[in-house]
Amino acid sequence: MFSENRIINIIYNHDESSVKTYKLLKKKLIERGFSIPETYHEKAELNICIGGDGAFLRAVHRYKFPDIPFIGINTGHLGFFQEILPENIDDFIERYMDKDYVIEKIFLVESNILTINNSFKLLGVNEIVIKGIKSKVVHLEVFINNNHLEKFSGDGIIISTPAGSTGYNFSTGGSIVYPSLNTLQITPLSPISSRAYRSLLNSIIVPGDIFITIKPEYRYENSILLVVDGMELKYDGITEMKFTVPKKTISRLNLDKNMYWNNLKSKFL
Ligand code: NAP
Repeated sequence: MFSENRIINIIYNHDESSVKTYKLLKKKLIERGFSIPETYHEKAELNICIGGDGAFLRAVHRYKFPDIPFIGINTGHLGFFQEILPENIDDFIERYMDKDYVIEKIFLVESNILTINNSFKLLGVNEIVIKGIKSKVVHLEVFINNNHLEKFSGDGIIISTPAGSTGYNFSTGGSIVYPSLNTLQITPLSPISSRAYRSLLNSIIVPGDIFITIKPEYRYENSILLVVDGMELKYDGITEMKFTVPKKTISRLNLDKNMYWNNLKSKFL
């Protein structure tokens, strides 16, 4: 039996370097008195995710946005979320034992989707992207707190969180938003701005207590593609999508308050 407060989940992908890191980390944590369950334990005190940002995103979704804080060990990917390098495992364990870290909230994005017959709720860590299927131009009416903003025409719209601002949002010209800011960013994907259609060309950052409502205008088919943290979901007959920052957050350990700025420089410049 595991003692209730000394359990750590280690979540790892099957890359050779991740498996090697898992074995070493598990051995070292057991030596320090922790229990490492074979399968995900809901009463663990920490989730250590080995891999890249993609592995972290998949773990958050697989374990349904748990309250257990995450920390990541980066094994050869971009690893923007993943703070520890495999060679620094010993230092991490010492600092974890000494409680030498802060726990940071990660704000999420929530969407309530209404279709002709149904309703769904989606949660994302990085973003929710609205696209047309079959590469068609999408036409979307955008409202902020019920105020009509624009009729968007183009490839789609990204609604990103601060944590996701360095992901897809950044590649499409959106701004980087510091993770402690409770905001959402609306970023256009190839917006058309012509005599036929006029869409905002830049992103807008809105406070997290605001509702962004998007209503599709269908021309060729009645399907919209939604991409949540890289996972595609196709819905028919969507009438309305409402986005906001939910009260629910996830959390991560931060061992170095300057890491964000060092990461920006080393990973993007
Ligand atoms: P993926 O292959 O898992 O990720 C694509 C790249 O984005 C990887 O290098 C990943 O880092 C990096 N990444 C993920 N989240 C990030 C963040 N918050 N800040 C900085 N970089 C981040 O792709 P996927 O499965 O399709 O989607 C996962 C995420 O990738 C999405 O949520 C989206 O933000 C991003 N994405 C980016 C583009 C683009 O830039 N054009 C297109 C699609 C998706 P690792 O190498 O460490 O995994």
